[in-house]
Amino acid sequence: MAESAPRPSILTPATTPTTPAQKAPHIQYQATTLRNWHRKINWLNTTLVVLIPLLGLGLAARTPLTRPTLLWSIAYYFCTAFGITGGYHRLWSHRCYSARIPLRLFLAFAGAGAIQGSIRWWSANHRAHHRWTDTLKDPYSVMRGLLFSHLGWMVLSSDPKVKGRTDVSDLDADWVVAWQHRHYGKCLVVAAWLFPSLVAGLGWGDWWGGLVYAGIVRACFVQQATFCVNSLAHWIGEQPFDDRRSPRDHVLTALVTMGEGYHNFHHEFPSDYRNAIIWYQYDPTKWLIFAFSYISIPGLMGPMAYDLKTFRENEIEKGRLQQQQKALDKKRAKLDWGMPLAQLPVVGWDDFKARCAEGARLVAIAGVIHDVQTFIVDHPGGKALIAGAIGKDATALFNGGVYEHSNAAHNLLSTMRVGILRGGQEVEIWKTERSRLEKDTKGAAVVRAGEQITRVGDPIAAAVAA
Ligand SMILES: [Zn+2]
Ligand SMILES: [Zn+2]
Repeated sequence: MAESAPRPSILTPATTPTTPAQKAPHIQYQATTLRNWHRKINWLNTTLVVLIPLLGLGLAARTPLTRPTLLWSIAYYFCTAFGITGGYHRLWSHRCYSARIPLRLFLAFAGAGAIQGSIRWWSANHRAHHRWTDTLKDPYSVMRGLLFSHLGWMVLSSDPKVKGRTDVSDLDADWVVAWQHRHYGKCLVVAAWLFPSLVAGLGWGDWWGGLVYAGIVRACFVQQATFCVNSLAHWIGEQPFDDRRSPRDHVLTALVTMGEGYHNFHHEFPSDYRNAIIWYQYDPTKWLIFAFSYISIPGLMGPMAYDLKTFRENEIEKGRLQQQQKALDKKRAKLDWGMPLAQLPVVGWDDFKARCAEGARLVAIAGVIHDVQTFIVDHPGGKALIAGAIGKDATALFNGGVYEHSNAAHNLLSTMRVGILRGGQEVEIWKTERSRLEKDTKGAAVVRAGEQITRVGDPIAAAVAA
């Protein structure tokens, strides 16, 4: 099982000393040929995550499945899956809570039974994944393809220098982690294959069925489910908290992964022991951790799980709101808000009058010139009123002198603007617009209802009354 080259493997520690720098580029960068293709494969990992599972599925076709073995396989599936989600992931990789020794031992054993490497190896990779998400330093970056993030990163030999380095000194201080790492091979064989066979054999005499179904096939399902967090949870679903990187929330991924599918939330708030924050969302890992915080050995020690960490609701809502604002900004950018004032030509009053005399249908409102040519016949207040304002400053008329125009009218008016009136006023207009309009996440001006540049002062009382 020993490897000749220091490739990352789920059985070899991330800290394996590297050999002196090689002259030839790492096999990852070499073109595939008939002579070197086998060196492109990490055979140890491939055996554990592809070949043995395939063998198990082949054996299952010839092995009768009894009812107790089926129930035991399902039960052990959830145990070992929880070893990964509640143990490897939320306890050790992210320190979302603390656990007492009996629970830590259980999680270390169950996690070993999922055949995904030692806690130390798994957590080092996972911390790199969070720190360098979507970059080359992310060991299972989805940017390198869905299949790579799912399985390829383990099956292929990859240059160990590329993966981002992470600090796991806190894990080295946990003797359960250190012991499991040192004896991982033995832990794997016992927890993944011997123990499930032993239970089925001693329990109801089905030694072989226990090995095939509760051992090999069950581990295959746990592996594929967990790998979905690295692939599917970065591929399908929504991004309610941040869309700058790939993690996504989807109920389907959550169903497959014992609640790990609310992955957009998880990447934003990784030290929160929850992945789903709404009560009806499927996150059994969270429920179990919560349950363990009420389970204790009477008289001996306190709750098995304690110090459960959650982010403040205020922080979570801020993230959600900012993402919603971003989505609104995208929508806003698609709408016509009229030509920005700074890009409009400046026209003198005399020119304005002269153009109108030549037949242009221009109306000045709040220092902005609007071309109402095509709108005159559609004016809800009638053609005469708007025609009477052509060639004039209709600021007061538009803002309540005749009728206090609606928000929609101000919006529509802004799409007709064609110039700025000279006379000191244009500078004032730009200044006013700059000071009163906020900028969105893309730097575009946000024109809120009632804040259009053509809206001047409060409605005139007499007009409102009328
Ligand atoms: Zn992720
Ligand atoms: Zn994580």
